[in-house]
Amino acid sequence: MKIAIVGAGIVGVTTAYELAQDGHAVTVFEQRSAAAEEASFATGGLLAPGVLSPWSAPGTMQMPSYFGSQAPLRLGSALTLSELSWLRRWRRAARACAKSGEPLPPLRALERLARYSHARLQHLTESLDLHFEHSAGTLLLLRTPHDAEALTPALKALRDAGSTIHEVDADTARRIEPGLSPSLALTGALHLPDGLSGNCRQFALLLRQAAQQHGAQFHFGTRVARLASHPVGVQLDGEPESRPFDAVVLCAGVQSAALLQPMGQRLPLVALHGSSVSAPLREELHAPQGVVVDVQTQTTIARLGQRVRVSGGAELGRGTAQAHPQTLNTLYRVLGECFPGGVTHSSGLQVWRGARPMLPDGPPAVGATTVPGLWLNLGHGASGWSLACGSARALADQIAGKTPDIDLEGLCAQRF
Ligand SMILES: Cc1cc2nc3c(=O)[nH]c(=O)nc-3n(C[C@H](O)[C@H](O)[C@H](O)COP(=O)(O)OP(=O)(O)OC[C@H]3O[C@@H](n4cnc5c(N)ncnc54)[C@H](O)[C@@H]3O)c2cc1C
Repeated sequence: MKIAIVGAGIVGVTTAYELAQDGHAVTVFEQRSAAAEEASFATGGLLAPGVLSPWSAPGTMQMPSYFGSQAPLRLGSALTLSELSWLRRWRRAARACAKSGEPLPPLRALERLARYSHARLQHLTESLDLHFEHSAGTLLLLRTPHDAEALTPALKALRDAGSTIHEVDADTARRIEPGLSPSLALTGALHLPDGLSGNCRQFALLLRQAAQQHGAQFHFGTRVARLASHPVGVQLDGEPESRPFDAVVLCAGVQSAALLQPMGQRLPLVALHGSSVSAPLREELHAPQGVVVDVQTQTTIARLGQRVRVSGGAELGRGTAQAHPQTLNTLYRVLGECFPGGVTHSSGLQVWRGARPMLPDGPPAVGATTVPGLWLNLGHGASGWSLACGSARALADQIAGKTPDIDLEGLCAQRF
């Protein structure tokens, strides 16, 4: 089939690879000058287990309050109706999850996809001999007894699926991550030896090359102005007619909803901004070895080669390019509290702000739309790096008319 893909973030690139590998003639249209320049640029790096990415689904990490200066979610002064509606749905689902103490179906769907994606990523990494910065092991820091309670539904979803999770005391946590500050007060930690972190952008650039070797064509600096139906196709900026394809896959991250709306397809997709700071390693002994999640502040600190990346923040309704000062303060504070002296702040810092493409129940939308030939692979929210390889493979199977290897319940593009 002749297939167009809109967007070359981690989701578009993995989709291009899977479809090209299946023998389709794939063309990717990307408005930026390279792959992974938007949300996939400097993600926290947390790969698996995906349900532990802060903000991956309502109920993954409960919070005492959404409001106030210390609240993890920062709201802009003028939220749109769709942002307000998203917020209502998210909070309702989070409360239901907290009340039952059980993972809701979306959390289970997310866990399933993250697990499948992890296996697919490992397969691709090994079979294509991809070398990208990565580290092994995930440690969740518990500063108060409430932190462990907040994780109950997510941990249950992981345990039910057979994940290994060790509850460890503070001394053991420090043996696992010897760089952790001795003065950081901990009630304990959770250790997931199978956890992984990695450099999303590096992986995307390598997989783009692999997709090109299978014949995929990437057109950078090319914006899709409009999607077309009957026949399905894309109209590019500056072109009077749309180009027809046998299928179009929309992987345009937070900009997907705007492209879908004129086709009568509405998706409750919002942009939840966050930031990361990547700093050069200063002293190996004081830096993380793997990825550390501070549950209280919903911040991740990951080791990526010769750098450490701290990431977090959740801002709804603030579309500016600048990182939020309070978010940045939190990132620097948590890094300093956990790994003082591990990084250098004087030079080589990379500060980044990105927008998580969020649907109100957590999992992405993967599959067919009501428009024949138009497919979606979008809305991966806070765990797109953890989910991309799996959702791409599952979508390619659907396009080929095969039954995917995982149950796609809860991921259907038409569930809203
Ligand atoms: C601070 C932060 C930390 C994060 N940490 C993690 C983490 O630790 N683990 C994890 O798994 N995930 C994490 N995420 C989430 C992850 O980054 C996203 O889920 C993922 O990058 C989304 O990928 P995407 O390909 O859908 O979107 P994008 O990477 O944004 O790609 C969409 C692409 O479509 C292009 N596009 C849009 N419209 C058009 C158009 N009209 N024409 C042509 N091109 C178009 C855009 O230019 C863009 O390149 C984090 C996100 C943030 C913001």
